[in-house]
Amino acid sequence: MALLWIYPSLLFFLLPSLTPSQALRNYPENEVTLLDSMSALGDLGWEAYPAEGWEEISVMDESNTPMRSYQVCNVMEANQNNWLRTRHIPRDGAQRVYIEIKFTLRDCNSLPGVPGTCKETFNMYYYESNNPNLWFIKESQYVKIDTIAADESFTQTDVGDRVMKLNTEVRDISNLSKKGFYLAFQDVGACIALVSLRVFYKKCPLTVLNLAQFPDTVTGGDSALVEVRGSCVNDSEEFEVPRMFCSADGGWLVPIGRCVCKPGFEEHKDYCQPCRTGSYKASAMDAYCSKCPPHSYSHQEKASECSCDKGYYRADMDPRSMACTRPPSAPENPISTLNETSVTLEWSPPRDTGGRGDVAYNVHCKKCSGEGRECSPCGSGVHFIPRQFGLSLAKVQVTDLLSNTNYTFSIEAVNGVSDLSPNPKQLVVVNITTGQTVSVILKERKSKDSITLAWQGPDRPNGAIVEYEVIYYEKNQRDQNYTVLKTKANVMTVEGLKPGTTYVFRVRARTDGGYGSYGGEIELETSHEDMLAIGDPNQSTILAVSIAGGIVLLIFLVACFVVSGRHCGYIKAKQDPDEEKMQFQHGRVKLPGSRTYIHPHTYEDPNQAVRDFAKEIDASNIRIERVIGAGEFGEVCSGRLKLPSKREIYVAIKSLKAGYSEKQRRDFLSEASIMGQFDHPNIIRLEGVVTRCKPVMIITEYMENGSLDTFLKKHDGQFTVIQLVGMMRGIASGMKYLSDMNYVHRDLAARNILVNSNLVCKVSDFGLSRVLEDDPEAAYTTRGGKIPIRWTAPEAIAYRKFTSASDVWSYGIVMWEVISYGERPYWEMSNQDVIKAIDEGYRLPPPMDCPVVLHQLMLDCWEKSRSDRPKFGHIVNTLDKLIRNPNSLKQLANISVWEDATTPELSVNTVEEWLDAIKLGQYKDNFATAGYVTLDSILYISINELRKMGVTLVGHQKKILSSVQSLQAQGTHVHV
Ligand code: AMP
Repeated sequence: MALLWIYPSLLFFLLPSLTPSQALRNYPENEVTLLDSMSALGDLGWEAYPAEGWEEISVMDESNTPMRSYQVCNVMEANQNNWLRTRHIPRDGAQRVYIEIKFTLRDCNSLPGVPGTCKETFNMYYYESNNPNLWFIKESQYVKIDTIAADESFTQTDVGDRVMKLNTEVRDISNLSKKGFYLAFQDVGACIALVSLRVFYKKCPLTVLNLAQFPDTVTGGDSALVEVRGSCVNDSEEFEVPRMFCSADGGWLVPIGRCVCKPGFEEHKDYCQPCRTGSYKASAMDAYCSKCPPHSYSHQEKASECSCDKGYYRADMDPRSMACTRPPSAPENPISTLNETSVTLEWSPPRDTGGRGDVAYNVHCKKCSGEGRECSPCGSGVHFIPRQFGLSLAKVQVTDLLSNTNYTFSIEAVNGVSDLSPNPKQLVVVNITTGQTVSVILKERKSKDSITLAWQGPDRPNGAIVEYEVIYYEKNQRDQNYTVLKTKANVMTVEGLKPGTTYVFRVRARTDGGYGSYGGEIELETSHEDMLAIGDPNQSTILAVSIAGGIVLLIFLVACFVVSGRHCGYIKAKQDPDEEKMQFQHGRVKLPGSRTYIHPHTYEDPNQAVRDFAKEIDASNIRIERVIGAGEFGEVCSGRLKLPSKREIYVAIKSLKAGYSEKQRRDFLSEASIMGQFDHPNIIRLEGVVTRCKPVMIITEYMENGSLDTFLKKHDGQFTVIQLVGMMRGIASGMKYLSDMNYVHRDLAARNILVNSNLVCKVSDFGLSRVLEDDPEAAYTTRGGKIPIRWTAPEAIAYRKFTSASDVWSYGIVMWEVISYGERPYWEMSNQDVIKAIDEGYRLPPPMDCPVVLHQLMLDCWEKSRSDRPKFGHIVNTLDKLIRNPNSLKQLANISVWEDATTPELSVNTVEEWLDAIKLGQYKDNFATAGYVTLDSILYISINELRKMGVTLVGHQKKILSSVQSLQAQGTHVHV
């Protein structure tokens, strides 16, 4: 007992580091404490025997809370056997419990005079029992847990130094099965203070994972895992059975399966929250709510789908995420093309597909006949290709119609929700009348290699007759080879036939409603001799019309001859050698390498612009020879300029007339300061200016052939198409150069192109005031500006949007002027009519003999949207390709198609009116003298007669003959 003084001081030093409140607070989440000596407020009530063994003491911790603990230190006596037994500890269902003891132990060697029986260990036991009130347990009944040794023992020095060494040991007992157990500590002669005892078991704490809740779960007895099935949280459902394993040390392992939020709910942290209004969740498999798709709504929370707005529907197979849709509008723009007894119906898709991609078409057919036009379903006799209902393409062919019968086709557009709508389906109706056959062939005229046919059109055609189609083949050879020809007239000469050979002919009419049926076959044989011969299947009619037919034939042959007769060589444009070209840039602007045009207005002093861009020429070097034209500011003369090298070149000299104002002088010279910035073979070249003496002059290269429009008119019909394309190419190249330099010309027209002796065309007319004042073609627009209407793009007329793209439009007009040999664009139509016609989509038709590719290029230049027009670079490339491949120019544009569709008609009654209309009024006397006084009399005029009466220009002959052809087809309305 002498050593008991040690203990209180030992305990005292321990307390600051281990307070009961701390111990309570620090229990880990997965541990359930069954007993904690430090939290006991009163007597622990443990049994200690013998009485002089373990001793309970009570001390205060730092917060003055009493703490209970036991000590023993009978080291001086041998044979110690002191027992300390806890109360009954219920195990609370745990199979494995943990015992944590904290104790101090004195080092035997540090105790002076202590015998060798001193121990430094003690033993720990347990006894399982259902009885909580056992008052005695035999020593032999205990099961030993372990002998506990101290990791740290303390010495006298430690006590002196107040250094305390607390030991913590944890042991566990497994496979408990009774209600509880008792713990016992056996001391066999050590000096121990049992500071605290905590008994606990481990559990896996309640958790929610993958929307499944797993309850608090006590760990297994041995180290076995406990499998636990989770339950789905509210508003969720099992996707796959949720399971987890609770491990022996209280951790959850290996989650399997999961729950998912029900439709109308979405996952949020560990629970499912309702979808808000305006959103929905259709499937448990979707993680989150989505906004209602277009044309649908949800007015309440938890929506699993959104309802469609009024007039919109959702087909059964439509996913809930798809917008609600509606039936399509009616198909549009139906076109029927009749071919004898079949019709092809085509239409544009509905403007409104209802928001769906599954639009299909049904075609309903009714036939109406008799005076009362009684209609009945077409029945099974009529066939639809590919089918009548559920067509995916906007086209169907209907065959086996009766001839000369009215049919009504109703084409309806349907989609996946059409049947859900109570409204009738939207449809478009097409009425057709099947055609009649062309009447018998009336006459024919034969030679050894040609046959001329004439026929009568159907009595009651189902529309205006557009053309006739003549099919012919050598008798019995149809399968090998047959030819189809088209004509607007009801007379045709078929050429290139074999002599003495029988051919089969059939004719059918095409109206604006489609093709009628072929008339019967007619067999005709070409003659054997080399002379015109008259065949005779129908004597009476042939005689009546053969003379007229002959004239037509003659005209036709002559026209063909004329068309194929041009064989002038193409004169390749040569650029004059530029040996004498003077470099006259000085001052602040350096042109070589500069690619952007500088507007003279950007100069404060316009004279400086002239000095920068134009060379001053000494007037004594200029010799004026003759007047060649009149410009805005004065005469234009030709003459010679002596170059510094003493060589003389031909030049054009524009002079400023006397009495000019300062502004006029500035404007006059502005042309030189613009022109002087350009250096290109297709831009008129500035030689220099005379400003230091009067008259002020602008000297340019001389262009022998003057302006292009006059030049073409003078040489009407005299160039090959390649030559014409060569001219166009030059102009396009010059314009490309200008547009590359950001210069917009604004007045590109044939009158502003000059032509030299080599047919090289050069762009000219760069004056600042030219469009306003100079150009006689310019007219005032409603916005006040003066604009050459016929050459100008609509956007430039409408809101003065002048760009290189509007220059491209003008270029298209120049192309047309070139091919038509200087014809006035839009003839005598008024400017107002031109603007209106262009706005309505009218475009100039191809001039006579115009290759289809060239007209197409013109049409491209006249695209309404300026961004759709080609660039000049593209135009140059296209023309280059055509020049390299002249075959591509062989296919001529079909004037008649254009004339019908686009050319305004002039109504004429006399030969004089007609000649005026085609702008050949100069021949009125020639026609009158030759006896052509009525329009009928000129219908079969020949080229020879034209020559005889003094119409010698090939271009004029062509113009007359082509107009006569129109006259034949149109009666007294003549196309100009
Ligand atoms: P302008 O008003 O400056 O375009 O010239 C009036 C007319 O003079 C033109 O229509 C041409 O016939 C003629 N002309 C102008 N410049 C030249 C030139 N460089 N070479 C030949 N003729 C020219």
